[in-house]
Formats: sequence, C-alpha cells, structure tokens
Amino acid sequence: MVRSGQGRRIGVFGGTFDPPHIGHLVAAVDAQRELDLDVVLLVVANVPWQKVESREISPAEDRLALVEAAAEDTPFLQVSDIEIRRGGPSYSADTLAALHHEEPDAELFVILGNDAAAGFATWERYEEVAEQATLVVVDRPGTPTPVDPQFDWVRVDIPELEISSTELRARVASGRSIRYLTTAGVASAIADRGLYR
Ligand code: ATP
Ligand code: MG
Repeated sequence: MVRSGQGRRIGVFGGTFDPPHIGHLVAAVDAQRELDLDVVLLVVANVPWQKVESREISPAEDRLALVEAAAEDTPFLQVSDIEIRRGGPSYSADTLAALHHEEPDAELFVILGNDAAAGFATWERYEEVAEQATLVVVDRPGTPTPVDPQFDWVRVDIPELEISSTELRARVASGRSIRYLTTAGVASAIADRGLYR
C-alpha cells in the first residue's frame, strides 16, 4: 500500500459494540495492516438509529467501557466517544465531518463488515460518507458481498468468524461462557456491570 498524502491514515470502525467481540477485533487488526493505517478508531454509536426500535440497547457508558477493555492491549486501536458526546442519533456523515474538521490532513477509511456494507445505501447521507472517506469492506475471501457499484470499494479479506454481539448477549443471558469469543477484559467488564443477564 503506497501512501499518498502526508496526514495520518485513520480507520473509522463504527458500531453498537453491545458487546465488542473477536469478529470486530480481527476486522480492525486486518484492516490496519492491509491499509497501513496509523490508527483505527472504534467509534461507539450513541443511539443506533437503525436498531433503536427493535431491541433494548445497553447504555452508551457501558458499551464505551467494554470497547475500552477490548482495545486496551492494542496501541493502534483507539476508542472514540465522539458520537456519544454529540448525542442524538449517530450518523457517520456527521462523524466524518467532525474528524475532518479536527484533522484536515488526515485520510479517512470507513471500515464496514459485510452486512453493514450491503446496507450502505440505506445510511443517512451515504453519499457524503463516500465523499469523505474511502469505503472498506472487510469480508471473507472468495465470496465477496455484493456492494453498491457506484462507489469504489476497497476489500480486505478476513477470516469468516460467525460471531455477533447478539450471540454473545444470548450466551450470557443463558449462563453460557463467552470465553475466547471476546477478550478476557471485556468478559470481566460484562460480569462486573451485570450486563445481558
Ligand atoms: P449485533 O449482533 O447486535 O447486530 P454485531 O455483532 O453485528 O452486533 P455491530 O456493533 O452491529 O456488531 O457491528 C459493528 C461493525 O462490525 C459492523 O460494520 C459489522 O458489519 C461488523 N461486524 C460485526 N460482526 C463481525 C464479524 N463477526 N466479522 C466481521 N465484521 C463484523
Ligand atoms: Mg450487526
């Protein structure tokens, strides 16, 4: 990967992270390496507007603490509370504009899992997102997810890990272990905070 500008290359990986798991971490780590990113921001959504009506979301403060635990051993992973501080619904277009304003030289890369990439055209002001950042889809090798061809997607192959936050919540609720599906730090923070019981 050849560097073009002089500014930092910043990966922006947004999510509800309720809770974060190894699928998220492997995606962030592989994207960092493949795209030579200086940092990957794990941007914790405040009100996930596409989910808010379908289930109860854990408080932002709990999700932020879990993502901090997930990132603690990896220097290039940084946790961003920008959407929580802004309040209201979380729109990536606003987040990217704010990051651009803070650091005009930076080159931004929005990292999306295959499900998020497939639904990209449903996002609020998605054209603005595509204008402000390079779109990166992290996906299993060999079977690329169909994505909107009007944008220039970068693909990063990652091993397919059939893991979701939904699965982790269900496991905690039924008393099963989440060991090895997330970090030890995340698992103990979930227990300490009494989440998902
Ligand atoms: P939920 O089950 O509650 O929907 P989730 O596991 O999908 O949660 P999100 O916080 O919704 O997690 O996802 C944040 C981002 O991480 C999205 O871009 C999503 O596509 C991606 N992602 C989630 N799980 C994986 C996985 N196993 N491998 C790669 N990317 C993933
Ligand atoms: Mg999801």
